[in-house]
Amino acid sequence: MPKKNKILLTNDDGIDAPGLYALYLALKDFGEVTVVAPSTEQSAVGHAITLSDPLRVDSHKKDGSFFGYAVNGTPADCVKIACGAILPSTPDMVISGINLGPNTGINTIYSGTVSAATEGSILGIPSFAISLGTFQDPDFRYAAKFGKNLAVKMAGKTLPKGVSLNVNVPACQENEIQGIQITRMSLALYEENFDKRLDPRGRIYYWLTGQRNNFETDLSVDVAALSANRISITPIHYDLTRYDFLKTLDQWHLKQ
Ligand code: MN
Repeated sequence: MPKKNKILLTNDDGIDAPGLYALYLALKDFGEVTVVAPSTEQSAVGHAITLSDPLRVDSHKKDGSFFGYAVNGTPADCVKIACGAILPSTPDMVISGINLGPNTGINTIYSGTVSAATEGSILGIPSFAISLGTFQDPDFRYAAKFGKNLAVKMAGKTLPKGVSLNVNVPACQENEIQGIQITRMSLALYEENFDKRLDPRGRIYYWLTGQRNNFETDLSVDVAALSANRISITPIHYDLTRYDFLKTLDQWHLKQ
């Protein structure tokens, strides 16, 4: 029998999130899946890691039997501790999701889901993040099926160093999906507001709200592809250097 692929599955919505479970069910026949996920929701924590507090790893049960490891940390912590302390050997791939809600455009930066995949790529492991394009009445079944198919495909491939894939699946019916689009990340800004409110004790608090203020129409951009009911796949990388500016910056001739 061929060796099963060892898959590390994580997310940012927490170990009990339905999206993670849907993907687990889809992946378990293809690979040897180990779930290491945050014990509580960690959406929008970005690539944060825990340095000042102890990390605890608890065996987590679902329906009375062992399901995975719950970590009181961030998605990036989960990938680090899984590879560094929990798993007996390095996994063949890291998969993060399925996130409740899209991770397109600038949101990609804030996403805990995407950061888990990025952490996988930092460790040199082929990785992808997968998100469903809705926050309401999610049906993760098709996205889970697509995630599994992508995992099967990725098993025979290598990604460039430092690259991971950011996948967004539209929340429509399977037969309404208009294909797969390889995309780049939208740089459109959000129009953000702090909703100023009063708590029951009369103290002011704020709640961040926002919406995109310009609408991308170019289907090669993640946001547009997703709104056109296409599955968006963006190759992303964590090298933050802007190479074409190195020389110009050097020519500032900064003095010590
Ligand atoms: Mn999330």
